[in-house]
Amino acid sequence: MLVQRQSGLGKSTLVNTLFKSKVSRKSCTPNYQEKISKTVKLHSVSHVIEEKGVKMKLTVIDTPGFGDQINNDNCWEPVVKHVNEQYETFLREELHLHRQRRIPDSRVHCCVYFLPATGHRLRPIDVAFMKRLGKIVSIVPVIAKADTLTMEERQHFKEQIRKDLAANGIAVYPQKEYDEDPEERVLNDRIRESIPFAVVGTDQEHQVNGTKVLGRKTKWGIIEVENVAHCEFANLRDLLIRSHLQDLKDVTHDVHYETYRVRRLNESNM
Ligand code: GDP
Ligand code: MG
Repeated sequence: MLVQRQSGLGKSTLVNTLFKSKVSRKSCTPNYQEKISKTVKLHSVSHVIEEKGVKMKLTVIDTPGFGDQINNDNCWEPVVKHVNEQYETFLREELHLHRQRRIPDSRVHCCVYFLPATGHRLRPIDVAFMKRLGKIVSIVPVIAKADTLTMEERQHFKEQIRKDLAANGIAVYPQKEYDEDPEERVLNDRIRESIPFAVVGTDQEHQVNGTKVLGRKTKWGIIEVENVAHCEFANLRDLLIRSHLQDLKDVTHDVHYETYRVRRLNESNM
């Protein structure tokens, strides 16, 4: 999983919220790695999380500073490079004669793209990035710091973004053409109608009616991060970790990785 956008949008906070929220209270100590490529540094954090008794390792790659430069031409390149490098590693393992029964999978299964809560429209950099990345990885756009918008502004912004995505031919996850049956279509239509999720992140817990909840305390009350009446963090979390985790992996393998594999084998220098 990969999160993306410029500094100060709440990426790190949201990642921590993801690990702290209900699914992942049992997470163990993160290990940090740093990977430097050009101007955008990729920073990855892994946690073992437990969901319904099943342990899984979730790695989140944070890209601080994306879009912070004065000249943002090709600023997505380190991200494209990282995604492709993981495909290349996997391909080499697959082609290996005595290949391992289970190939370690470091491929990026989702890219969460952070849109600043401006209430306006997609900017050229958003369009350029998502167009480019959407061809190689599943993209889930989110509105960061959604608590800074009123409910009407949020709704308006979401509609505007959906229009802009469609107008620019940007395909975000879950894509219609990969719906497998009518049941899945109904479920995914509901997600497509609410994308981009308006999310709020926090690193604080507060007491609400005698229970501890993750939230942001404001002058006017507590914004409960996991309360769907307050924001759509829970929808994002459920999509990524619960309902669509396997499907995200399937789309990576069957669509994005397959495209990469075919292209590489056609170059036939392997
Ligand atoms: P990053 O640079 O994108 O990783 O952003 P950080 O996670 O470091 O957050 C930058 C600042 O925004 C911090 O002061 C956070 O407390 C604050 N912040 C993070 N998430 C939210 C949010 O959902 N709403 C609001 N209002 N502030 C947030
Ligand atoms: Mg950060």
